[in-house]
Amino acid sequence: MFGPPGSGKGTYASRISTKLHTPHISTGDLVREEVKNQTEIGKRVNEYQARGQLVPDSMICQLLQKRIAQPDCKDGFILDGFPRTIPQAQELEKISTTDLVINLDVPDEVIIQRLSTRLICKKCGSIYNERTLKPRREGRCDKCDGDLYKREDDRPNVVQYRLEIYRKQTQPLLEYYKKKNQIRNISNKQSDVPPERVVEEIIKVIHTSIA
Ligand SMILES: [Zn+2]
Repeated sequence: MFGPPGSGKGTYASRISTKLHTPHISTGDLVREEVKNQTEIGKRVNEYQARGQLVPDSMICQLLQKRIAQPDCKDGFILDGFPRTIPQAQELEKISTTDLVINLDVPDEVIIQRLSTRLICKKCGSIYNERTLKPRREGRCDKCDGDLYKREDDRPNVVQYRLEIYRKQTQPLLEYYKKKNQIRNISNKQSDVPPERVVEEIIKVIHTSIA
């Protein structure tokens, strides 16, 4: 699943995962899990982050490889947050094949509006939205009753900057997968399209593209 920050890719990926009984693998979550459990890799990740450096691709791939070796991945999986660069895509090819790249095409102004109304659970990381995906009780998580908060870097001017970086970084990667004929664009031009509609569209694309 490919898409700028705030395109909803985490939300869609997790819903598609439930509908297709296919694991949703977020590399961000994999890394956080290792850090939380203070594993050998987790400790090394800590060292990189403490120095303000990026976690090396090879390390992320090591985690990914471990995850996709689990029995639930034998018929496939959905990747979210990886790869983001061509070197990462090449690392990925060493451990797995890709069938399809779903590219969420969302205009900047829609993303800015969506992120400025985004709410995140402090405890479990679940995502809500003040306009489109309200929690049942204001300020509380439906799943774990944790506090909901807004991220500092979801402010409009910061989002604009994050989007510029995203586009610069991923443009070459989109070209890379275009050459392999694996890109399917899902366009989402409005800010309040219900997630179910987008999910349905993506599943249709998956079914028609992968026999
Ligand atoms: Zn929660």
